[in-house]
Amino acid sequence: MKLVFLGPPGAGKGTQAAGVAKAFDIVHISTGDMFRAAIRNQTPTGLRAKAFMDAGELVPDAVVIEMVKERLAQDDCKNGYLLDGFPRTVEQAEALDGFCPPDAVVDLEVPDEALLARLTGRRVCVKCQGIFHISKLADETVCPVCGAELIHRDDDKPEAIQTRLNVYHAQTSPLVGYYRNNGKLRPVSGVQAPEAVTKEILSVLRGDA
Ligand code: AMP
Repeated sequence: MKLVFLGPPGAGKGTQAAGVAKAFDIVHISTGDMFRAAIRNQTPTGLRAKAFMDAGELVPDAVVIEMVKERLAQDDCKNGYLLDGFPRTVEQAEALDGFCPPDAVVDLEVPDEALLARLTGRRVCVKCQGIFHISKLADETVCPVCGAELIHRDDDKPEAIQTRLNVYHAQTSPLVGYYRNNGKLRPVSGVQAPEAVTKEILSVLRGDA
């Protein structure tokens, strides 16, 4: 099963992707997580990506496409993949169709007003990559799952959030039409409890498995 998760920043792609990838026994690949790891490890890709990410802008297509192409060629992708955060431009979608086209594309729909509240309160675990909202945390700095440090991503701060939403509407939302036209789009409302969203995604995808 080869899946793409589409949706604006804060729609719940990361949270949902982890559970859905497990259910289909496929590898969860988040390009944002790959870039954050590359920055921590100070690789050439990380050094190129950092300024774009901090500003809430997209990393150039050529860099992302090459990184994903290499990743999908690895052994653990033989059973399929779940791409979270890629493609984000029509050029990336066309490249993916060239080397490993998806079977289905889940589009998580959430209005902008809800996204702002989710993103400003979001905290991410540096170790297990768990994603939490401050309204549900006893301590905003400690991961309730593994005890490691929780961080407030630089690009989840108000200045960068508006840029990311603008970038989404300008560059990524055309992909909704792209995948609707080729019959792969599976729209799901992301404005429900996380468990209900997972249930709906699994039921929608059952026909594609
Ligand atoms: P995410 O964790 O998916 O929100 O990604 C965080 C940041 O990484 C984005 O705001 C971009 O700067 C960069 N990024 C992740 N995936 C892509 C992509 N497919 N194309 C371009 N930039 C990306």
